Amino acid sequence: MKIKLEKILNLDDGEYRFHFETAAKDIGLGLTDYEGQEVFDRPVVTDVVLNKTSHLYYVKLRAASEARFLCDRCLEETRHMITGEFQVAYTDLKSSRQEYGSESDVRLIEMHKANEITLDKDVCDTLMLEIPTKILCEEDCKGLCVECGANLNDALCEHADMQMNANN
Ligand SMILES: [Zn+2]
Ligand SMILES: [Zn+2]
Repeated sequence: MKIKLEKILNLDDGEYRFHFETAAKDIGLGLTDYEGQEVFDRPVVTDVVLNKTSHLYYVKLRAASEARFLCDRCLEETRHMITGEFQVAYTDLKSSRQEYGSESDVRLIEMHKANEITLDKDVCDTLMLEIPTKILCEEDCKGLCVECGANLNDALCEHADMQMNANN
């Protein structure tokens, strides 16, 4: 548990900011590709704004990390920034569920006992949701030759003419 808002019991009502830089695997973001290599191999940077009122902690977070993928077409390594936002309210009032329920997650806590809020899983989930379903090294990646496997971004192989004709 690394991304943790600590000692929140004694905070006065108001707005507080937190900044975290953590290794992805330390917060459970241990996604690997088919070669077993870490996808999130750079630090995860998380900025949190906490708004406290007497019966509510309102948490907004923004998480960002650069991740390593393999291009869907040519299988070369390609790096992308993954960023996402998430908000959640912690409260001891059951009625708040109606007030905030439609806009964001609401979680019940005991305001007079809970001294910390852990956000590791929320940061993981936020970043996982932002991974694109299709990943290309370049918008117009030419991919691999289906005949010989040559990377057509580097050079055209002897089959290139044939394939261009086939595509037309
Ligand atoms: Zn590519
Ligand atoms: Zn070829």
